[in-house]
Amino acid sequence: MVTTGHADSDHFHDECGVFGVFGHPDAAALTALGLHALQHRGQEAAGIVSYDGTQFNPQRGPGLVADNFSSKEVIERLRGHAAIGHVRYATTGEVVTRNIQPFFADFEFGGLALCHNGNLTNAYQLRRNLVRRGSLFHSTSDTEVIVHLIATSLKETVVDRLTDALRQVEGAYSLVALSQEALIGVRDPLGVRPLVIGKLGETWILSSETCALDIIGAEFVRDVEPGEIVIIGAGGLRSLKPFEHASKRFCVFEYIYFARPDSVMEGRSVYEARKQIGRELARESPVDADIVVPVPDSGVPAALGYANESGLPFELGIIRNHYVGRTFIEPTDQIRHLGVRLKHNANRSDLQGKRVILVDDSIVRGTTSTKIVDMVRRAGATEVHMRISSPPTVHSCFYGIATPERDQLLASRYDVDAMAKFIGADSLAFVSIDGLYRAMGEGRRAASGPRFCDACFTGDYPIPLIDAEDGKVSVQLSLLAETA
Ligand code: SF4
Repeated sequence: MVTTGHADSDHFHDECGVFGVFGHPDAAALTALGLHALQHRGQEAAGIVSYDGTQFNPQRGPGLVADNFSSKEVIERLRGHAAIGHVRYATTGEVVTRNIQPFFADFEFGGLALCHNGNLTNAYQLRRNLVRRGSLFHSTSDTEVIVHLIATSLKETVVDRLTDALRQVEGAYSLVALSQEALIGVRDPLGVRPLVIGKLGETWILSSETCALDIIGAEFVRDVEPGEIVIIGAGGLRSLKPFEHASKRFCVFEYIYFARPDSVMEGRSVYEARKQIGRELARESPVDADIVVPVPDSGVPAALGYANESGLPFELGIIRNHYVGRTFIEPTDQIRHLGVRLKHNANRSDLQGKRVILVDDSIVRGTTSTKIVDMVRRAGATEVHMRISSPPTVHSCFYGIATPERDQLLASRYDVDAMAKFIGADSLAFVSIDGLYRAMGEGRRAASGPRFCDACFTGDYPIPLIDAEDGKVSVQLSLLAETA
């Protein structure tokens, strides 16, 4: 999978965000606001399905939440006391309408709308078996695999059928579903992807992140636990734990980059976690310099932590243009180069004659870092030292994060010195894996049972990569070539 077609193609990308509301007359409007707060988790498509007691009302489309859900007419058409919504990051250059979630299907027990954040690692295998047994697929999304598993289950109730379906899947997912009676939320048994419960008066909310609770004034209740199914209906919230117990392996990259800094995940403030990683980085890799400069916006909290710990001044030496969201013109590397210039500009007065420590969250292909280092030098910096608030990203993610193929990851091709040379920095250092765990308050990484999923740094994949090992998919999701 190649993540071209996006201005920020030199980052790992979260593929989706989910949101759900039960028990509010403006459920769709609240869902649109929630999705707006989750926009960083996917900018290529958005969808909402509401239920009004008689029928399900869908609206889906390519583009941002605001592109699809700003008009009064659209929101009014999405009638009902319950709704679920989804934002999606396209994993290929093209967004295909039939892949935009939430999906909806009519079952024996009634309608069910469904969307999820994550990736099933045995989707290809399951799909092949389902097709053999007569299932007809309309999309290339692995969410549809879950829909067909529900359809073919012999269990009675919607929750039993969903549980039956999820027992057959392997993968990392947070799923939100809406039946005629209930809003349902599920996290995979290892809890790799996030999902939280909130309340707004008597209204129940499910969301990928707490920042989307804040936007509608809802209170955070708790995280959905790994392997937990929550069923929210007229009688309140019911919890089931039907899966075999497994140790938690929450995605540590959510703290490093994916989540919004104003979110709280698993009881930890994302902002504080990032500052703490920056402090750890300063302790592990100090350097004689004049100023600490973040690569905005994602490098800001770690740079603050680095500056606090090192005692060096924190300066905004790079200014970000917030109005460059996506570029659609990047068929060549030269244009991608332009994309970086459009997004960032050096603040010359700050950088002139200074020895600069640049702090960023990760290096993926190295293209952005190369341009940024060059930009800072051209602005008059006498030395440029790069510090990265994650360990080297050596492996691809198979758990719902859009990543380049492994051979395109700079850290899988070069050691740290060669990477420094590649990006043109005077020095380069990454926080160590133990430093990352220390920053998360965990002590050293316990090799026999690490607290987080850190597979993109360590290669220790906690969920079997069935399709990938079978040679069926190189990375994830794309079971068929996506064509409009
Ligand atoms: S492989 Fe990396 S990005 Fe993917 S879930 Fe694990 S920690 Fe997160």
